[in-house]
Amino acid sequence: MTARILVVDDQPLNVKLLEAKLTAEYYEVVSATGGAEALEKAAEVQPDIILLDVMMPGMDGYQVCERLKADPELSHIPVVMVTALGDPADRIRGIDVGADDFLSKPINDIALFARVRSLLRLKLTLDELRLRDDTSLQFGDLAATDLTSDCGTGARILVVEDESDDRDTIAQVLSEENAVTCVTGVEEALVAIAQVFDLIIVSTNLKDSDGLRLCSKIRSRDSTRHVAILMLIDESDSERLARGLDLGVNDYIYKPIDKNELIARTRGQIRHYRYQERLRSNYHRSVSMAVTDSLTGLYNRHYLDTYLSRLLARSLSDGKPLAVAIIDVDFFKAVNDTHGHPAGDQVLRELAERLEGSVRANDMAARFGGEEFVLVMSETDMETARTVTARLCRDIETTPFAGSMIENGLPVTASIGVAVADGRDETPEGLLGRADEALYEAKRGGRNQVVAAVG
Ligand code: GH3
Ligand code: MG
Ligand code: MG
Repeated sequence: MTARILVVDDQPLNVKLLEAKLTAEYYEVVSATGGAEALEKAAEVQPDIILLDVMMPGMDGYQVCERLKADPELSHIPVVMVTALGDPADRIRGIDVGADDFLSKPINDIALFARVRSLLRLKLTLDELRLRDDTSLQFGDLAATDLTSDCGTGARILVVEDESDDRDTIAQVLSEENAVTCVTGVEEALVAIAQVFDLIIVSTNLKDSDGLRLCSKIRSRDSTRHVAILMLIDESDSERLARGLDLGVNDYIYKPIDKNELIARTRGQIRHYRYQERLRSNYHRSVSMAVTDSLTGLYNRHYLDTYLSRLLARSLSDGKPLAVAIIDVDFFKAVNDTHGHPAGDQVLRELAERLEGSVRANDMAARFGGEEFVLVMSETDMETARTVTARLCRDIETTPFAGSMIENGLPVTASIGVAVADGRDETPEGLLGRADEALYEAKRGGRNQVVAAVG
C-alpha cells in the first residue's frame, strides 16, 4: 500500500529524518517547513496522510490542523500531530481541532508505521465511499453527508474490561451521553455483539482472555465488520498497539485513562463510524435505485438484460429450460383516458404486486417499460410456464383492480406471450423477441389470453 505523505516540521533535520524513514518503506514524501507552506502543499499534492509538527513558529500545528479540517477539499485527509509534549491536555487540544492521531518525539518506528498503515486504510475506505457518494448524488435526491454535523453522542457502546476501576470510570463517564453495556471477557463480548453497537472499547490487558483476538473476530464477522473499535492499552506496549492497528482497530487510549481524552476520542470515533455508515447506506440506496423501477419497485429493464444473459448462460451449460413471459395490459390507454393517469399508475403498481405474488421466490418480475412486464422463470419448461401464466391471466381478469383513485374496482385484462430457452444458443433479445411475437399473436387473437411461442 503505497501513499503520498506530507511531512511538516520547522526543523529541516526532523524533516530529513522522517523523509528517510518513510522513503525507505517506499512512501512518497512531500515536505513543508511552516504552517502556510503546509496548507499550500496539502492543496497542491492532495496527500494521503499529513504528519504535522505541533511546535512551529508563526502558525502552529493546531492552527494548521484546524484550517485543514475546515476545508471541505482537505478535511478527509488524516492528520497525525507530532508532539514533544506528553501532556494529555495537548492531546485533547489536538482532538478538538480534528487531529486523527498523535506521535510523540522521538518517533518510534513501530508506532509510526502502524499508524501510517492504519490511517491509510481509513483513508482508502473513505476515498472509496466518497467516490461512490459523489456518484449517488448525481442520481439526485440523496442528501449529502458530512462529518462535522454529528455531535458524536447518543451511541451504543460495549465496554470489554476486567479491571473494575477502569470499567466503572468508563461506564460513568460515557453513560452521560451514550447507552453503555459492560462485559469482562472475550466470551461474554462475543455473545453481547449479537446486539448492535456503534463502538466497542476493548482492553488489551484482560487477565483471562485475549483482547486482540476479540478485535480480530469483530472484524471478521459480517455484522460487526465496520463497527468502531477503541483499544485500551499500556503506553509501553507499542508492539501490541501496532498489532491492534494492523488488525483494524480504529483508535486507542493509553492507561491510566484520562477522562477528557476518553470523551474526545469516543465522540470522534462515533462521528467517523456514523459518517461511514451514512456513506454506505447512500451507496446501497443508489445501487438499488439504478436497478429498480421507481413506480413499481420491480427490477428495471437494464437489470433484466444483465440478469437474463447470466441465466441463459447457465441454462446453456446445465441444459435446464428457462422461461420468460411478457405481460401487456389490454387497452391500457383507455384506463388512463377514462380514469386518469394516477389511476393508471395504481393499476401498474397492483399488477406488479400480483406478478411478484404469482411466481416462486427465485423467479424474477421486471418492468419492461410502460404497461409491459416480464417474468423470468428459471428451470421451467413450457408446460409449467403456460400453467403459471394462464393462472395469472385469469386472476387479472377475475379480480378487479382496487385503489384510492379507482372507484368500485376496475376490471383489467392482460395478454401474455411465453417463450422457453431450452439449452439452445440464444440471446436475451432473441428469447424476449420470441415472447414478444407470441404476445402479438395474443393481441391479434382477441387479447386476455396466453400464447406460447413456437419452436
Ligand atoms: P393494447 O391492448 O394493444 O396493448 O393497447 P394499449 O392501450 O394497452 O397499448 P398502447 O401501447 O397503445 O398504450 C399503452 C399506454 O400505456 C400508453 C401510455 O400512456 C401508457 N403508459 C405507459 N407508461 C405508463 C405509466 O407509467 N403510467 C401510466 N398511467 N400509463 C402509462
Ligand atoms: Mg397494452
Ligand atoms: Mg404496450
